[in-house]
Amino acid sequence: MTATIIDGKAIAARVRAEIAERVRAFVARTGRPPGLATVLVGDDPASAVYVGGKQRACDEVGIRPFDERLAANASHDGVAELLRRLNDDEQVSGVLLQLPLPAHLDGPALTGMIDPRKDVDGLTPVNAGLLSLGQAGLRPCTPCGVMELLASAGTPLEGCEAVVVGRSNLFGKPMAQLLLEANATVTMCHSRTRDLREVCVRADVLIAAAGKPRLIGREHVKRGAVVIDVGVNRLTPEEAGIASGLVGDVDFEAVRDIASALTPVPGGVGPMTIAMLLSNTLQAAESIAAMAGGNER
Ligand code: NAP
Repeated sequence: MTATIIDGKAIAARVRAEIAERVRAFVARTGRPPGLATVLVGDDPASAVYVGGKQRACDEVGIRPFDERLAANASHDGVAELLRRLNDDEQVSGVLLQLPLPAHLDGPALTGMIDPRKDVDGLTPVNAGLLSLGQAGLRPCTPCGVMELLASAGTPLEGCEAVVVGRSNLFGKPMAQLLLEANATVTMCHSRTRDLREVCVRADVLIAAAGKPRLIGREHVKRGAVVIDVGVNRLTPEEAGIASGLVGDVDFEAVRDIASALTPVPGGVGPMTIAMLLSNTLQAAESIAAMAGGNER
């Protein structure tokens, strides 16, 4: 068996084209574009690259980007004040606080200050609570992106054994909740799981998000399983054995003739995260406009 490679780039391009169409309709209806404010505190190079990518993606679909930057020594009150201003700004439909923050800042407390209606990362307690209750709200981008990939690959989820490796608030927990909502039987693994291999090998759908290079090898994968690799790990080219040094949590080469479908790194989950961010920004703009009475023209 040779796995079908799930092409996240192509699927994300299709999603972005649909969003661009809906943004045009939104602008025609309301007279202004949705706006996404990204807040970057400090000068972490990887975060700056991610924020730049998000801003460019906004431009491409007609969402107005607001690029907010604060110095690495910004105070809690300084960040809070900026978030309050963005919450109140009618041109801003979505607010994204780029994580991780510098160590002196309290990420969860600051994230919790984002207006839940503008919480396009789906990380505030209100949206996390709505998801766990199975109610509508803004949902975290990467798990939503994985659900889109699974749907595009035609993966049946109802009744299947799904295993999620990783239990972070950002990914693992919301991923498990979305799979549960789709009627999968879900198991979550983490660093204290006694026998990772024994749990993973039961999975019809195996999702790896531990941030550990090539943690998932051939012995972890049941023949015919669908394997989604969320991990992004930067190694030296020598360590990785490839020029980019970028590897996932799955040993791609070892698994590709056992899995039935597999996402690559890069080009799998990553592009979907940005596509879902755009989708959430549009969703936020549409629901704020609907609450304000719809046509603002
Ligand atoms: P995180 O907050 O560090 O969480 C990692 C999780 O993996 C934790 O729950 C941890 O368990 C678990 N874990 C660590 N080592 C393990 C092991 N040996 N066996 C089983 N579980 C283990 O990371 P995250 O934010 O969820 O991100 C995970 C990975 O996904 C990272 O590589 C990140 O870069 C990537 N990511 C990619 C995207 C994208 O758009 N492509 C988006 C988000 C994240 P404990 O809870 O017990 O510590």
